[in-house]
Amino acid sequence: MSGSAAVAAGRPETADLGAPLYVAWQITNECNLACLHCIEESGPGKAFKDELSEASIFDILKQLMDDGVPYLSFSGGEPMIHPLFFDMVKYVCDRGAELKVETNGHFLSPENCRRMKDLGVKAVQVSLDGASRDSFNKMRVRGEFNTVIEGMKQLRDVELDIEINFSPTRFNVDEIGRAVDLAHHLGAASFYSGRTMYTGNAVKTWGKLVPSEDQYTEYFAVLHAKAAEYSDRMRVHFHEMGLLEELQYRRHHPAALLILLPNGLVKIVNALPFICGDLRTQSLGEVWGNFQRAWKDERVTGFIDEMVTDPGKTASLHQWIYV
Ligand code: SF4
Repeated sequence: MSGSAAVAAGRPETADLGAPLYVAWQITNECNLACLHCIEESGPGKAFKDELSEASIFDILKQLMDDGVPYLSFSGGEPMIHPLFFDMVKYVCDRGAELKVETNGHFLSPENCRRMKDLGVKAVQVSLDGASRDSFNKMRVRGEFNTVIEGMKQLRDVELDIEINFSPTRFNVDEIGRAVDLAHHLGAASFYSGRTMYTGNAVKTWGKLVPSEDQYTEYFAVLHAKAAEYSDRMRVHFHEMGLLEELQYRRHHPAALLILLPNGLVKIVNALPFICGDLRTQSLGEVWGNFQRAWKDERVTGFIDEMVTDPGKTASLHQWIYV
């Protein structure tokens, strides 16, 4: 999972749909890395104690597929370390939904890449925060830049679509131009970025982490230039808006997207603490109904309003509130 402030912008809105169009499933909170900016507070030994059983996982998957959810992503934590990762991938792909895997890129062996390709994975999003080993390894604690680069080459060799996610910090913003070039060189089809979010691990490291506004201005100027430069070869997509502006937009135009946590609870959006259901005990239809109502709930709208004067409220995103 990335630390950028993307709030699923660009994804479809709810309108009168009978089910979400997209389920972003954080299949485990366990991770091999302990990144400075991790919005999920993931890391080694950080799996939730109540993560879903095998039976619950496949009950939920069956329901999602039976209800016709067309797009899913698996993220984490690090999804590829979940013992049922490939079984879950197979189930989704066999049922004909489009699946994206969001990974930190440390398990992209030739065998794993081939397996994902053969099973029918649509795209693999890799976190690549930097164009140098120094900045990448500083941010991705326990991570190794060269392993990720090798993994991307393996993805390219099996012709899996590669997407890159880049989270800006004070010490990697200057590398953004080179990072876009590197992504294209390694065969990426898309490059995504946005502002780093103040939550999770980033709350503890914010003082050393967050770019200044001047740095952000330069950062987005480079991204604009790179988007133009690569317009016919690679999609360079980024959100200049801060989190507050994105949430103010989402409040009136919720994306048709559910965030499914490793224990079956469902969040209305990753950047808010609100839980709208539990797929262990409720049907997707019930949860989807709750989701639509939740965006009008005054606890949700009030939380967003309070962010105007207290942007630090995002520090509490992991203290869930049931709506
Ligand atoms: S790779 Fe880093 S940012 Fe992603 S879940 Fe693991 S610790 Fe968090």
